[in-house]
Amino acid sequence: MTTSEVAPATNFIRQIIAEDLKNRKNDGRVITRFPPEPNGYLHIGHAKSICLNFGLAADYHGVCNLRFDDTNPSKEEQEYVESIMADVRWLGFDWDDRLFFASDYFEQLYQYGLHLVNAGQAYVCDLSAEEVRAYRGTLTEPGQDSPYRNRSVAENLDLFTRMRAGEFPDGSRTLRAKIDMASPNLNMRDPVLYRIKHESHQRTGDAWCLYPMYDYAHPLSDALEGITHSICTMEYEDHRVLYDWMVENCPVPSRPHQYEFARLNLSYTVMSKRKLLQLVHEKLVAGWDDPRMPTLAGMRRRGYTPAAIRNFCERIGVGKRENLVDLALLEFCVREDLNFRAPRVMGVLKPLKVVLINYPEGQVEELEAVNNPEDPAQGTRKVPFSRELYLEREDFREEPPRKFFRLAPGREVRLRYAYFIKCEEVIKDPATGEVVELRCTYDPDTRGGYAPDGRRVKATLHWVSALHAIPAEVRLYDRLFTKPVPGEDSGGDFKADLHSGSLEVLSDCRLEPSLKNAAPGDFFQFERQGYFCVDSEDSAPGAPVFNRTVTLKDAWAKIQQAQKP
Ligand code: ATP
Ligand code: MG
Repeated sequence: MTTSEVAPATNFIRQIIAEDLKNRKNDGRVITRFPPEPNGYLHIGHAKSICLNFGLAADYHGVCNLRFDDTNPSKEEQEYVESIMADVRWLGFDWDDRLFFASDYFEQLYQYGLHLVNAGQAYVCDLSAEEVRAYRGTLTEPGQDSPYRNRSVAENLDLFTRMRAGEFPDGSRTLRAKIDMASPNLNMRDPVLYRIKHESHQRTGDAWCLYPMYDYAHPLSDALEGITHSICTMEYEDHRVLYDWMVENCPVPSRPHQYEFARLNLSYTVMSKRKLLQLVHEKLVAGWDDPRMPTLAGMRRRGYTPAAIRNFCERIGVGKRENLVDLALLEFCVREDLNFRAPRVMGVLKPLKVVLINYPEGQVEELEAVNNPEDPAQGTRKVPFSRELYLEREDFREEPPRKFFRLAPGREVRLRYAYFIKCEEVIKDPATGEVVELRCTYDPDTRGGYAPDGRRVKATLHWVSALHAIPAEVRLYDRLFTKPVPGEDSGGDFKADLHSGSLEVLSDCRLEPSLKNAAPGDFFQFERQGYFCVDSEDSAPGAPVFNRTVTLKDAWAKIQQAQKP
């Protein structure tokens, strides 16, 4: 393969890979990996990493491994393993037979530990976690050697073996690399490689009570799999020398390199798994797949498509500088994808009854409606029209303000695919004064939406036939947080910025009858409203539940724009 056959080097990692290929480094192989810890569901930040790692492999004729970084049994669960695999597949990527678990390497990693001990490069330390911290020093002060640093190889071997055999309680001893307690890089001050944890692991059961630390297990797992480019986020930049130290000092079969890129931060969103877990456990959302969550499971349920998310990840690019990506960009990508694919339908979310007083009782017409003006191949459908209709309550004002061009007393508007109608009378509840019904006339000569005399109307409204419409619940979602960086102005208390109006449930919506057979996951554009999909959990035949995926235009951005001085 020559570099001219592959994708252009559009970001710094591509440039590195292109250069490596040119120099025949790694025999021209590109092997990346996506290494999630199964301690939560994947979120949109992970999607950036997945698209990058699997994308690079695809573009450079390489492969990408899926490796679970399952080295901490106290936080990890099989449920997370399964959700992660489902989410990576859903995003459109495939690891073929290259599914790995760090726990599969526990024995090999232990052997590397023995190797380091034998080489005098690791020792068993009896300091507590707190003492280790105190001995480590600070950025401005060197650390202090552990009193156990100069144990003999024989004593270290004996203790390390007995650590594995389960002779010591949790936290009583660790295995540490013997590097440099005065290093300006704190990660190099004799980092802990192994800790004792008498805890069952979801894969290895009780075989181990000794668990490796990330900085130890990660580089060695990369080397065992022959990873060439190990790509992680910037916070590991200071760990890279340690990564290299591990690979250089253990007898591993290959020489991987670590490269760092800036993580995705998204406005109005939290992405730390700790915080997401808190939202779930404290029932501030309905679960990991709540459609307001930034998880892939939540986005899928909300109706975001894999193509939209991949496109978003492509647009935000890959760099080294942290920034805050506007949530509106993600929503734009979702709209862009759905615009072409989603069939148009009519649905009334907040119904107001309209009676056409001059329309024959009992008559029904089947009007032809276009399924998708962006895609003629989607064809047309029939929509029933009759004497009693529902319109959107918000499309009528008894006293219309300036620039409100929709229905009002005495005013004429067009009904989409149907006729002009004119409001003749407003019926109110005598007790509350609430408008409960409109009496209108229709003009039979305007069928199809145009008047032969050339008169015009300023609005076209969606509608459903009262007799034929199906009832539905519709859930409207808005941002989960009210601040671009949740917690920023409240000392990190992100929950203080939860948006109380992030979910609005409308239980009395009326939809055109073609939606009767819509199945979970099906998506539509409700004309003039936005994109909606059938909820995969709570929808039932005869009692459909729709989620609003995204509005047609970004109402928020507009409001904010309007508020600017
Ligand atoms: P936490 O946020 O809870 O510390 P994590 O995000 O590091 O956890 P992992 O399961 O270790 O969770 O992440 C797997 C991979 O996804 C890592 O390579 C990590 O760098 C990458 N990743 C995680 N969050 C982001 C993000 N916001 N942007 C880009 N990549 C990310
Ligand atoms: Mg991590």
